[in-house]
Amino acid sequence: MSAVDYDIIVVGAGAVGLAFAAAAKQSGYSLLVLDSGPLPQVDQSRYDLRVNTINLASETFLKSVGAWDGVISKRASAFRQIRVWDSAGGRIAFSADEIGEHHLGHVIEADVLNVSLLELICQQEQTALMPEVQLESVEHDQGKALLYLADGTSVSCRLVIGADGGNSTVRTSTGIKVSQSHYGQRALVAQVEVSEPQPQTALQAFLPSGPLAFLPLADGTYSIVWSCQSALADELLGAAEAHFEQQLSKALDYRLGDSRLVSQLVSFDLRRLQVESYFANRTVLAGDAAHIIHPLAGMGVNLGLMDAAVLSEVLLGMDLANAQQGSGLYQALRKYERWRKAANTPAGFIMDGFDFGFRHPSKLVQGVLGTGLTLTNRMGFVKQEIIRLACGLSGDLPALARRV
Ligand SMILES: Cc1cc2nc3c(=O)[nH]c(=O)nc-3n(C[C@H](O)[C@H](O)[C@H](O)COP(=O)(O)OP(=O)(O)OC[C@H]3O[C@@H](n4cnc5c(N)ncnc54)[C@H](O)[C@@H]3O)c2cc1C
Repeated sequence: MSAVDYDIIVVGAGAVGLAFAAAAKQSGYSLLVLDSGPLPQVDQSRYDLRVNTINLASETFLKSVGAWDGVISKRASAFRQIRVWDSAGGRIAFSADEIGEHHLGHVIEADVLNVSLLELICQQEQTALMPEVQLESVEHDQGKALLYLADGTSVSCRLVIGADGGNSTVRTSTGIKVSQSHYGQRALVAQVEVSEPQPQTALQAFLPSGPLAFLPLADGTYSIVWSCQSALADELLGAAEAHFEQQLSKALDYRLGDSRLVSQLVSFDLRRLQVESYFANRTVLAGDAAHIIHPLAGMGVNLGLMDAAVLSEVLLGMDLANAQQGSGLYQALRKYERWRKAANTPAGFIMDGFDFGFRHPSKLVQGVLGTGLTLTNRMGFVKQEIIRLACGLSGDLPALARRV
């Protein structure tokens, strides 16, 4: 068997790649994490516009790997309530008290999460970091994977983890097929100040144009994610600031009073993507490289973090040298694929169902959904189960995400 530079190379130092590297520290494997971008930094003077809601399962996972204190010491905002309504008058409210918890989740900037994970990885002797190096292609040869980099060099390993996001080079290079479709929507993202804040409360309106979320930040401002049809998104992006603010306040039905932009307004094209298989040869995919879902419930990175936790669990103690069908490694990767497909695929369909249903032009469909929301709001047990599921307190969790 030919020699390799590393046991595992993780391509992508986003939350998912870094979380895997942090979780794999007990495995004893030698690891390289490489990324085309520079290492992230936290700028305390302004918020990173890429903001995620982190649920209780992800919180437990981050505590288990030792990254949570770093997150909290930098900047995070706990929310205790979520208020949801639609255009047909349906409404539902979720509260942490209903499930006996202190909070339902935290709003955390991407840089804060990534830097906290990075701080841990820098202390791991067996993990090397290579920023600002772009992967161009992966080849498999005689029991190893060869990664060709844009600077003309190459590195080899026994197993490649593709955590390189939605446009994954690892995925295309390995020939893993995807099914994907565009929502015809763009998500407008910004930080706003409001005249009537509701502390520790996230708000979500299902509008005919698409869902609008207001996520509370630590300084009393909000991060907004307004997913709307591309034509409306273009119109709002091109509008004067005052017009945008007016439309935003109106879309939220003035429930937080008037909104005022305190950051740039940026936009993301929204698409849905699922891979046919999570691994091939000596390559395995995690996070957005394997699945992208609608951001309406803020689940994307939470699913990716669970991928990282499961992958580190199934790979523990594996002989990485033998990746043939039937080998221990092959079986571990099959287990990872079955485990995570069972969670990620339905999550994608559920988000699509919400998006399709609440934007449906039929008043009847809208009425049924609105009534469904209001009725569910009165069903204590059903509601508790929904909250527990959304917070990641039920379902088949990996050991690192399970509470002791
Ligand atoms: C508008 C919006 C709002 C969202 N809100 C939420 C939310 O509230 N909660 C939530 O859970 N999720 C949310 N998501 C989803 C979440 O942002 C993603 O699921 C998450 O960032 C994916 O993380 P990742 O580590 O898989 O990929 P990424 O964060 O995309 O990281 C991939 C990394 O790979 C690197 N890379 C890519 N190609 C190469 C290459 N060829 N060579 C080397 N490096 C490479 C990139 O530089 C990057 O650092 C939202 C998404 C959107 C669009």
